[in-house]
Amino acid sequence: MRNLVVVFGDQLDHDASAFDGFDAKKDRVWMAESFKEASHVWSNKNRIAFFFASMRHFSEDLKASGRNLIYHELGKDDESLAGLLAKDLESLSPEAVVCTLPGEWRILEELRQTCDRADVPLDVRKDRHFLDSPENFREWAEGKKSIRLEYYYRELRKRHGILVTDDLKPIGGEWNFDKENRGAFGKAGPDPERPGPTSFPPDKTTQGVLELVEKRFPRHPGKLDSFAWPVTARDARKVLQDFISDRLPLFGKFQDAMWTGEPFLYHSLISSSLNVKLLNPREVVGAAVKAYETGAAPLNAVEGFVRQVLGWREYVRGVYWWKMPEYLELNGLAAGESLPEFYWTAETPYTCLRESIGQTLEFGYAHHIQRLMVTGLYGLLLGVQPKAMHEWYLAAYVDAVEWVELPNTLGMSQYGDGGIMASKPYIASGKYIQRMSNYCDSCPANPSESTGQCACPFTTLYWDFLIQKRESLGDNRRLSLQFRNADRLNSGKKAAISKRAKEVRADPSGKGLFS
Ligand code: FAD
Repeated sequence: MRNLVVVFGDQLDHDASAFDGFDAKKDRVWMAESFKEASHVWSNKNRIAFFFASMRHFSEDLKASGRNLIYHELGKDDESLAGLLAKDLESLSPEAVVCTLPGEWRILEELRQTCDRADVPLDVRKDRHFLDSPENFREWAEGKKSIRLEYYYRELRKRHGILVTDDLKPIGGEWNFDKENRGAFGKAGPDPERPGPTSFPPDKTTQGVLELVEKRFPRHPGKLDSFAWPVTARDARKVLQDFISDRLPLFGKFQDAMWTGEPFLYHSLISSSLNVKLLNPREVVGAAVKAYETGAAPLNAVEGFVRQVLGWREYVRGVYWWKMPEYLELNGLAAGESLPEFYWTAETPYTCLRESIGQTLEFGYAHHIQRLMVTGLYGLLLGVQPKAMHEWYLAAYVDAVEWVELPNTLGMSQYGDGGIMASKPYIASGKYIQRMSNYCDSCPANPSESTGQCACPFTTLYWDFLIQKRESLGDNRRLSLQFRNADRLNSGKKAAISKRAKEVRADPSGKGLFS
């Protein structure tokens, strides 16, 4: 055999560079479901099912297209990807192993070591799915004092001619319409008549995977009753099209809003499809831009959406490959707490946390503000170790692949990288959650109270954070207003906040405090 083309679960793209020059007579594709890989973090059943179901559908397409495939269905509990591959390298003796750059540094290392040990050359090819490359990002970032998304995003807009005039000025006169994208629903809530996201009842292949996951991962978190994710390129495209026509027009305005019992709102639900490469970001950005050009969606919505896919998505990948492997161990705020147990059960009286974690366990999904300003913010304010937060996010979501999850969690949400990604920790009190949602209406805690029996844990810990971090973060100009407000608290109030913060830390789920 000539080449063994290794395809990982997040590389389900027939046009991937690994297939360049594929010769059906001489080469074979290799894919594997590994128990160890699926349980390397305590993965949500939805995440495991999404990956296996997408892989099995892709493998059916590969076979149909005449590509000779070795596909390992889930085997014994002790089987790792590297172990499975090592065995096959021994029996097949390919001239080379070929793959597209994996989405995780650890996997790349394991692959290198496995090939080295078997003395088989490894050809790691560039990942063309993305609009930028790790090399370009490094060149852009290296030597800069700060690497803010905004400037990187503008460069990509110009380089790819997206929403720019012929002389490379931003269409609409502004690069960024974020100011128009912070709307809340007010008392009325989201329009109950709006079309919901497209869902896909499991077909036979997916049903088989759901049964397998229930059987082999019975104690893992999450429920599979509502599993309806797209697991083929065709269905992923349908999700995109429905989003563009039904929800994109209001995506921008309500991008940051949250509402009880409404897990999806105006979001696109395309991240899992994008991250396993069932969808291509060029197609996604192109569809959004077309909606603007044809008058189907306003500029603030389209720009806001393009900024996520072209801006943030490429940017976090750049940060990941630039800073790994050291990045994984960073702990800029020296946070030492463990992850509260209720992150795996959603058993808490606090509505915002119960809703955000509950839908995460049920669907493997929460939208950005729920991740950043509810579960992420609570972990940050409690002082949970960033690596523990990272492992939870990597396990919890169907769209979680390390290159995108880690910088978002450790960098953006936890300030664990000490400011590489964010210019300040994203801290806020419960008042932010109250402004952006109706969660507080049904919560026993009061976001206006930082002390006393009804205090909101976010508000208590927000002030406590500012009191505790006065020394270490006091010179961060972007926090100066917040520190000035904290300085105005009298010593009695500070002591009461500190006392309540200790109570919150001792009972992070709030089950005892609000029993
Ligand atoms: P929409 O809100 O509709 O946004 C459209 C698309 O933009 C997304 O599908 C996604 O591809 C992209 N996007 C939006 N925000 C980001 C971002 N900050 N970084 C990268 N891409 C972005 N996203 C993941 O894809 N995988 C993760 O594991 C992941 N972990 C996260 C962890 C934390 C702590 C935070 C704060 C964010 C995380 N994100 C992650 C980013 C973001 O929350 C999700 O991409 C988004 O919620 C997915 O839902 P959607 O497809 O409906 O997105």
